[in-house]
Amino acid sequence: MRLILLGPPGAGKGTQALRLVEKHGIVQLSTGDMLRAAVAAGTPVGLRAKSIMERGELVPDEVVVAIIADRIDQPDAKRGFVLDGFPRTVPQAEALERLLGERGLALDGVIQLKVDERILLQRIENRIREMTARGEKLRADDNPEVLKGRLEAYRAQTAPLVDHYQAKGLLKAVDGMAAIDAVTAAINGILSPAARKPKARKPARRKAAGKPARAKAKKPARPRTQARRARAAKSVKSRRKAGRAGGAKSKRGQTKSRTQRRLTKRR
Ligand code: ADP
Repeated sequence: MRLILLGPPGAGKGTQALRLVEKHGIVQLSTGDMLRAAVAAGTPVGLRAKSIMERGELVPDEVVVAIIADRIDQPDAKRGFVLDGFPRTVPQAEALERLLGERGLALDGVIQLKVDERILLQRIENRIREMTARGEKLRADDNPEVLKGRLEAYRAQTAPLVDHYQAKGLLKAVDGMAAIDAVTAAINGILSPAARKPKARKPARRKAAGKPARAKAKKPARPRTQARRARAAKSVKSRRKAGRAGGAKSKRGQTKSRTQRRLTKRR
């Protein structure tokens, strides 16, 4: 199974990704985690990404696309993956489509965690306060000022992905403001085999309600092509000829048409 979790920072993508990993035996690919690891290890990518991440801005597309391209080829990603934090821009989404297409793979769905941004800000501020009170280490970008920038980047660069995936028929939205278990249940419902089957055709409601079926729309007349016109003209001519050559005659000596013959035939 190959999925994307889409939603602003603090929407709960990481939490739900872990549950999907457990349930489906797939891997979580979080570009945020990978970049933080690169920063911690001091790799060239890490050095490039460090200050960008601290400002809450987005790392250049080609950097994250290269990381993902490499990661989806690892053996543990063969069974599937849940992307968390990627793609974050339309060009990243297009690059992902190319990467998957080249490997004969496709996405199974894009799950959007819908949240109220004002409450989100409070959620993260609370989390920061609680972690500080417990003496836990915060992420470099986990402060209210940077968070505003991250939300801004989401609105401007990532939110257009909702329309992008909607147009592809891949988007499935769940209420991210619900309790964690309720969000998980909603996602599982979306991914259950029954929900993924194409919808059965609805029974005709008019019939069930005892109403007569609606008349079918008449087919528009086929425009006469030259060939059809020629065929029609030929058949008129041949009918006339057949009449002259001794068709059934009426009392008045006129050639009877087939309809007339049928109507006047003795029973
Ligand atoms: P959040 O908790 O805000 O969802 P992440 O942990 O996913 O954040 O990412 C943290 C930071 O890493 C982002 O603010 C951004 O600077 C960088 N980053 C992560 N993924 C991407 C991506 N796909 N494209 C660009 N930058 C990214």
